[in-house]
Amino acid sequence: MKDVRVRFAPSPTGALHIGGVRTALYNFLLARQQGGTMILRIEDTDQNRYVPGAEAYIMDSLAWAGIQIDEGVREGGPFGPYRQSERKEIYSQYAQQLLQSGHAYYAFDTEADLEALRERQKAAGSDQQQYSSATRMTMRNSLTLSAEETKKRIDTGHPYVIRFKIPENETVALHDLIRGEVSVQTAQLDDKVLMKSDGMPTYHLANVVDDYLMKISHVIRGEEWLPSAPLHVLLYKAFGWEKGMPQFAHLPLLLKPDGNGKLSKRDADRMGFPIFPLNWTDPNTGEKSTGYKESGYLPEALINFLAFLGWNPGTEQEIFSMDELIRAFSIERIGKAGAKFDIQKAQWYNQQYLRTKSNAELASHLLSQLKKENIYCSQDKAEKICAVMKERITFPQDLWEQGKFFFIAPESFDEGVVSKKWNDDAVKVISAYRDAVENLSTFDATIAKETLENVTASLQIGTGKILQSLRVALSGLGGGPDLMMIMEIIGKEEVVSRLTFALSNLKIKVG
Ligand code: GLU
Repeated sequence: MKDVRVRFAPSPTGALHIGGVRTALYNFLLARQQGGTMILRIEDTDQNRYVPGAEAYIMDSLAWAGIQIDEGVREGGPFGPYRQSERKEIYSQYAQQLLQSGHAYYAFDTEADLEALRERQKAAGSDQQQYSSATRMTMRNSLTLSAEETKKRIDTGHPYVIRFKIPENETVALHDLIRGEVSVQTAQLDDKVLMKSDGMPTYHLANVVDDYLMKISHVIRGEEWLPSAPLHVLLYKAFGWEKGMPQFAHLPLLLKPDGNGKLSKRDADRMGFPIFPLNWTDPNTGEKSTGYKESGYLPEALINFLAFLGWNPGTEQEIFSMDELIRAFSIERIGKAGAKFDIQKAQWYNQQYLRTKSNAELASHLLSQLKKENIYCSQDKAEKICAVMKERITFPQDLWEQGKFFFIAPESFDEGVVSKKWNDDAVKVISAYRDAVENLSTFDATIAKETLENVTASLQIGTGKILQSLRVALSGLGGGPDLMMIMEIIGKEEVVSRLTFALSNLKIKVG
């Protein structure tokens, strides 16, 4: 088998969409598994759609996600430059080759000519391709004009494009590694522009020339490019490059969570989840979008989630590190059907990965949040909080969001719990407990528990009956981590003061 060389080839037209990260990931997994090379090529030939900052954003996003590039704009490599805008001469040289071999032609048609063609086709009720074998001989191009006229026009600076001459009445077939045999009649293809009037190549020409020159073995890209694949195959043939043709794998679409249609930024905005890996400010509109990173997703969780959008290992295992993905990945196990983008699953992965973090690592998140809030906390206390909270959180910022009560005494109390549970028995136990705790000389979770059991036993009230009231008095909340650990962490003085406050502020609801 030839060396595996794959490429991720984004256009820097804005922030990288999460679907692009998945495409890059699948390329990367194959490259690493096969001891191959991962290339990042920047396809920036469409000057109208160029967005400043997008290229750096793409690279930063991949780096954050742990998708390493072997050859690219930043890394360099033997097949550079890796930015298409720096390869203009190469494309025009190959366009010339196609002109000389009769696979391409100059076209001088103006906007008005093309509009007139559209009108003629409309009037004739034609559903044919616009500029094609059926119409090209009626247009203003080097096939219909004499050689002298063509030369004169070019020499005098007439604007022109170079079009691909699609062969007549052929079947183009290709084998897609995911979709199997795909074939199309050339009558359904149009004479695509290869070189634009600004001297820049179109996507099709540049993409094929670069994949060939960069010795790409597998083109793994989104399904939206499948309709272009037959044209690309024809280009390989026209160049005489069949032997160097890469294998194609067109990835299934990412669908909206309900499975109805393609996932868009608008859906993500509406449903309140990120669509971009990192924060992004659109330089044209000023619109700000929050990234996965800044929303608290761990890169390893996001990668694991994305890997499963379209691929599965064929086993029950769901948690895969990058190394495990590299070992398990195969193109054969990528499905054809669109993959529903279920953000809850992404959150589940985040929870799973957060649980595997050490308390010290999580504590650094909590401490940096506390710093912003101007709250002092020792390393030891922060780690204890993380230990009791880590099974309960979805994002690192939840340590603070859901654990504020460790630092701030409650001023309001969960109404539901109070109205149902705060009764005479609860008040009796909690008053006696407050007094008992006040008299203790040492205090921790075990002592807190023993003391509570002693109090409830002597009052002959079941501990279970008053636990929720005690919780609400201490934290204001109806649920949370282990209550005895909460008491150990906030300490004896704070327990006494919070219980005192609750006893004097909470009223027993009658009825
Ligand atoms: N530049 C194209 C894009 O932005 C690349 C498509 C391909 O991988 O061939 O998606």
